[in-house]
Amino acid sequence: MDCDNSNKGSYAWKSLCQARHVIELGSVWRVGDGQSIQIRRDRWLPKTSCSRIVSPLSVLPLESRVCDLINAETHTWKVDLVKQVFIPQEASIILGIPLSFQGAADKQVWLPTPQGTFSTRSAYKLLSGVSRQVLPSCSSLDRNHLMWNSIWNLQVPHKVKHMIWRATHNALPSLYNLWRRNVVRSVLCPSCKSDSEDIVHVLWSCVSLIPIWESNEVTTKLLKYKFFLFADLWEMLLKMKERLDVNLMAMIFWFI
Ligand SMILES: [Zn+2]
Repeated sequence: MDCDNSNKGSYAWKSLCQARHVIELGSVWRVGDGQSIQIRRDRWLPKTSCSRIVSPLSVLPLESRVCDLINAETHTWKVDLVKQVFIPQEASIILGIPLSFQGAADKQVWLPTPQGTFSTRSAYKLLSGVSRQVLPSCSSLDRNHLMWNSIWNLQVPHKVKHMIWRATHNALPSLYNLWRRNVVRSVLCPSCKSDSEDIVHVLWSCVSLIPIWESNEVTTKLLKYKFFLFADLWEMLLKMKERLDVNLMAMIFWFI
């Protein structure tokens, strides 16, 4: 059903279009045998925001289906393939999706309720949640404030503070960010050639940096954590600031 949401349509038609938009927003495929789900086109990651794949998927044919990622005999994910073609964040979400041993059919479910069934109350909650995302919530304002103070109180040159601030706001030109803006075609880190180059990767988790972090007991311990955003890593470093020199960490990030 394609909706032309122009001013000419009747009230009923516009209402239908809006209802369809809400249902699309909250509906995702629950993976069964993966036969009905197109990897690129459909929403199938189990979360209401970003349930569509953003990985570049350059090695997969255009019309690939989720079943191409599943071993049909063992009903398990093709782990190596998933790790090879998806960015790490998406690969770890996909590999966490449980697969049915009976090879049940794929099913569209309504994500905002645990049972997967639609209710107007949950649709309302979903919509108010979406509109709230436009404005930062109280906790994100607090977090922003803490982040701001922690960076501007550093005893480092201003250009270093500025760079850390941009990193915590995902505003550095990593290959992944450039790929999102269609500036580059590959997100593969040129240094290790084994992972996509997002900000956390380039400043922290790339294997080429491990010798630096292994020279300190605290950062060695932090290596076992997986950080999706630099802001999460920075927050963790702040929690460790009794045992770790955050000024030195900021300078190291600058020199990397
Ligand atoms: Zn790397």
